[in-house]
Amino acid sequence: MAPLPKLAVFDLDYTLWPFWVDTHVDPPFHKSSDGTVRDRRGQNIRLYPEVPEVLERLRSLGVPVAAASRTGEIEGANQLLELFDLVKYFGHREIYPGSKVAHFERLHHKTGVPFSQMVFFDDEERNIIDVGKLGVSCIHVQNGMNLQTLTQGLETFAKAQAGR
Ligand SMILES: [Mg+2]
Repeated sequence: MAPLPKLAVFDLDYTLWPFWVDTHVDPPFHKSSDGTVRDRRGQNIRLYPEVPEVLERLRSLGVPVAAASRTGEIEGANQLLELFDLVKYFGHREIYPGSKVAHFERLHHKTGVPFSQMVFFDDEERNIIDVGKLGVSCIHVQNGMNLQTLTQGLETFAKAQAGR
């Protein structure tokens, strides 16, 4: 069987959901009586549709998951993870502004997982470049996270291991 990463890390904005939580939506968020998640103005908030399946797949493979976001809207981002019932998947959440190198150093410190055993999904090239320099296998997410991108990430990770 192909080697699996010991930690899968996800960006939030435009990776798990199609907006910037500090710009395009209006916290605080709540769950309305019909079960949908809405912001303060009643705007319906959604994840990319395959995100729960992606996280469930990683759980079934036994791969721990973490979040790394540079948003300034820390409370709103955490609230959305709770309202979408995703907290159970994320063993660690590093959510604060600044270079993602800091987020990954903290993840490494907390989990003991070497950078070479991590895979990272993010829509922004600057983060891919910064974190890639640490030796993390990085995947540039193009149209939001989905199962195909997950498979691509696991394959990229396995190939990097074979090349060591
Ligand atoms: Mg993003």
